[in-house]
Amino acid sequence: MNEKLLDGKRVAAEIRAEVGERVAELRGRGIIPRLDVILVGDDPASKVYVGAKARACEKLGMVSGTHRLEPNAGQAALERLIGDLNADPEVDGILVQLPLPEGYDTHAALDVIDPAKDVDGFHPRNVGLLQQGRPSLTPCTPAGIMELLRREEIPVKGQRAVVVGRSDIVGKPLAMLLLHAHATVTLCHSRTRDLTSVTREADLLVAAAGKLALIGPEHVKPGAAVIDVGIHRLTRREEVERLFPGDEARMARFEAKGSVLTGDVDFVRVAPLASRITPVPGGVGPLTIAMLMSNTERAARLRRGREE
Ligand code: NAD
Repeated sequence: MNEKLLDGKRVAAEIRAEVGERVAELRGRGIIPRLDVILVGDDPASKVYVGAKARACEKLGMVSGTHRLEPNAGQAALERLIGDLNADPEVDGILVQLPLPEGYDTHAALDVIDPAKDVDGFHPRNVGLLQQGRPSLTPCTPAGIMELLRREEIPVKGQRAVVVGRSDIVGKPLAMLLLHAHATVTLCHSRTRDLTSVTREADLLVAAAGKLALIGPEHVKPGAAVIDVGIHRLTRREEVERLFPGDEARMARFEAKGSVLTGDVDFVRVAPLASRITPVPGGVGPLTIAMLMSNTERAARLRRGREE
């Protein structure tokens, strides 16, 4: 079983170590990459993510700045702050923590970020470059999945890849990256008819729908590689027992913490069929933050024309 697991944590540590080396080299030339994160409002999950991003930066020798705006600060204040960070020569990366509170226009905010500092890769210029197959700064979760596939030698070229979920953050950019890596790609979504028959065609199946245990054994072709992007917090004992029957270690974690994480894939029932599979937690999640670090360091080089 263990040899099937795609260890995102290990690959993320590898990526972070490489970024750390490149940062050390930049620091030797007097350049300290800097990431600035904007947090609007007080969503508890967003606060946790923002804290984790700042700590990850500092561990790798980069600088981080956090800017908090009140939930009712307004679109103009948000865009002014982005403008200030665009103009600040010390700042290499700007990230607006999503989702924004109600009343904010997310697209309008992302549109004002300098594309050269857009470490999330959500600016229309970076989205367009990605579509044309000449990516600059690429969205972190899809970029992390591609790194995992490459480093774990999961075949992509010529393979039938099915991505479930068409969000701008995960599904669409991942489909583009897979396409450029020469997979034959199908994107599924909430209105896809007969999802099972489509996903069963996949040599590489990516679940990014945000629906607990959506992907069961009936969706998976034996021997497929399965990547689970979904994150769900199980807070009810019956759910843990239903999805992980007899898994004492997981139940112990649930007892200790009051919750455990799982994904869009019914892991216990799908894993026996899959050739390789990502766990949740410890799969795609750690790669996202590692790629954000990589994008920040890359932005620092790109901006100074030192991309080697
Ligand atoms: P989203 O809600 O923006 O998009 C979900 C997509 O799934 C939509 O395109 C929708 O059409 C599709 N979908 C919904 N129900 C479906 C169904 N029954 N069948 C087929 N398609 C369906 O979500 P998102 O931001 O792309 O995130 C997806 C999941 O990935 C969430 O659980 C999120 O928490 C997780 N996520 C994880 C990471 C990470 O680092 N691991 C990063 C981003 C998102």
